[in-house]
Amino acid sequence: MEWREPVTGLKGVGPKKAAALEKLGIRTIGDLLLFFPRDYQDRRKSCGISELEEEKPVCVWGRVELVVKDPFRRGRRQILRVLISDGSGKLEILFFNAAYLASQFRKGSSFIFYGKPVWNHGKPQMIHPDFSPAEKGMTQGILPVYPLVLGLSQKDMRNWQKAALSGLSGIQEYLPEDIIRRNRLCGLDYAISNIHFPKDRQPLLEGKYRMIFDELLALQTGLLAARQKNVIGKQGPGFDPSPVEQEYIQGLPYPLTGAQLRVVSEIMADTESGKVMNRLVQGDVGSGKTAVAEVALYKAVKSGFQGVMMAPTEILAKQHFSSLSQGFAPYGITVGLLTGSMKAGEKREVLERLASGEIQILVGTHAIIQPDVAFSNLGLVITDEQHRFGVNQRTALSEKGNNPHVLVMTATPIPRTLAVILYGDLDISIIDELPPGRQKIVTRAVDESQRSACYDFVEKELNKGRQAYIVAPLIDESEVLDVKSAESLYQELRDRFAGYSVALLHGAMKQTEKDGIMSRFYQNEIQVLVSTVVIEVGINVPNSTMMVIENAERFGLAQLHQLRGRVGRGKHQSYCVLISKKSSEVARKRAEIMEKSQDGFYIAEQDLQLRGPGEIFGTRQHGVPDLAFADLAKHIKILNDVKKEADRIIEQDPLLESEAYAGLKKRIIKLFGPDFSLKL
Ligand code: ADP
Ligand code: MG
Repeated sequence: MEWREPVTGLKGVGPKKAAALEKLGIRTIGDLLLFFPRDYQDRRKSCGISELEEEKPVCVWGRVELVVKDPFRRGRRQILRVLISDGSGKLEILFFNAAYLASQFRKGSSFIFYGKPVWNHGKPQMIHPDFSPAEKGMTQGILPVYPLVLGLSQKDMRNWQKAALSGLSGIQEYLPEDIIRRNRLCGLDYAISNIHFPKDRQPLLEGKYRMIFDELLALQTGLLAARQKNVIGKQGPGFDPSPVEQEYIQGLPYPLTGAQLRVVSEIMADTESGKVMNRLVQGDVGSGKTAVAEVALYKAVKSGFQGVMMAPTEILAKQHFSSLSQGFAPYGITVGLLTGSMKAGEKREVLERLASGEIQILVGTHAIIQPDVAFSNLGLVITDEQHRFGVNQRTALSEKGNNPHVLVMTATPIPRTLAVILYGDLDISIIDELPPGRQKIVTRAVDESQRSACYDFVEKELNKGRQAYIVAPLIDESEVLDVKSAESLYQELRDRFAGYSVALLHGAMKQTEKDGIMSRFYQNEIQVLVSTVVIEVGINVPNSTMMVIENAERFGLAQLHQLRGRVGRGKHQSYCVLISKKSSEVARKRAEIMEKSQDGFYIAEQDLQLRGPGEIFGTRQHGVPDLAFADLAKHIKILNDVKKEADRIIEQDPLLESEAYAGLKKRIIKLFGPDFSLKL
């Protein structure tokens, strides 16, 4: 039997069963063997009825004393009750809608049952246990339990797995011997057979470890190799090696923080090196990423290149445009804006000035990656709030130049280990210091009963001349989700804050409408902004001191932190109120984290523990494939070991060209999909 052979070669797999297996993604023997149990039944343990423990699955032997079929009643499940005894005690076995079993349980006959005992009115019961006549005995050992679909049984699956394992003449090892030894991994063959039919707990754990390690190794090595391919032999635009950026830094209205200076120097080293920069700048909300970007853009222009900055929303693009225009005006540098909502004529003019090189720095939204946008000499590409952009968009932007330097900025603090995965193709800089004098935002988590008190507080702030954001998660009332809608909240708050101007902002509005509202909010013509999460990223209105977040339980912590970062940007004390419905244990913990901490990295780490990485960082969007065995939140420790091994491999063989890594390379392509082979 071969790994690639179709499963139909197995006894008992006809067209129907094959179709059911296909639904589970199983076509070949190899697919089958990599389809792992979701749970196990440990049937090695048996005990007397008097020794049963609640909820602990176990085998018991017993003789049938009584069989009772409850009378059928319309609309209710029929129950078959079998009372058994082993001399030490009595156990009631229940089957629902299975009257046909009654004939098997003859009074006086003996059976073995495997199930989970529960207590009902002080008496032990088992509901739908597995059973077999005592003289036949029950399959012993630890049995796998597979996730199944209709038309397949555990018995089928167990038999096929057994047949596949014994029919296959050994499973081909694909990792080099030294990797296995160094990381004390068990063999692949051993791993797979022990995951299906473990002899004991230890071999099972070793087997699982091996599968997790392999998957993470493929992930990490694949990303690193792709990055090597990206970098090796590529000449980047060489920026002016003299410290021209200093004059811009000196001209800023504030001194850069130590962290900003460090990141600037990392960027300078990259861009002067002659190689292509691929760098991620991570910095908490308000850490001053924009200033760092400005210095880099200044350097590009002074070196004779154009620079471009892409933002995820129009509002943000315009905000960047106005601050960059102001910042660069004294140096005679021309900044242009390109967004999707611009009129065709305006757009054409910008495109012409860009192509001629008159516009030296372009700021914009996705519109920038349209095919008709051409630069004369693009040297630096910056994307702000990268977590909103896919990898492909970043690449599309880079292709507008001749290997331009790439700087990616994100405000989502990502634990370093994870960043290495999510941004495996980038070097990482961290701005881990806030500008001096930043105040702590007083944060309170409350429940619905305190909403009215919360609005009283908002009113006090408004009376002092401040402004407020009130965030609701969805636009339309939805009974199913029971979410306070922005629309109805807006109606309500317009009455509540009658003396002030209240406006509604949501993602489905026309761009011009949104822009109009934002600029009126900037100018304090609007005091209360009721909004969906469109305000989340980057908006800077220092006079806003209140952030109220409705249905806070629906947001991730990292997102709450982002939202909260919209306040606390000016000289006034700022506040954030999180209104939640639920008061579960997790909800309480989340509230506590938000009240105590303002540290985005800490919050992200906690969020990772509570929710897992996929939900927080949109791992799919980052181009990280779905993982079958590993869990990026749980397996950070293994990931650290994997990282060391991957670094070692890439150092030896950056593009995985040697025969020793042929198997690993195949594994990588299997993980990332066939397109990835181009990147290796
Ligand atoms: P973010 O990292 O969230 O994008 P911004 O770049 O918007 O942060 O900066 C937030 C605010 O801090 C801006 O008003 C900016 O002018 C100010 N700022 C940035 N760097 C410094 C600094 N070194 N000292 C004082 N203020 C700074
Ligand atoms: Mg920003």
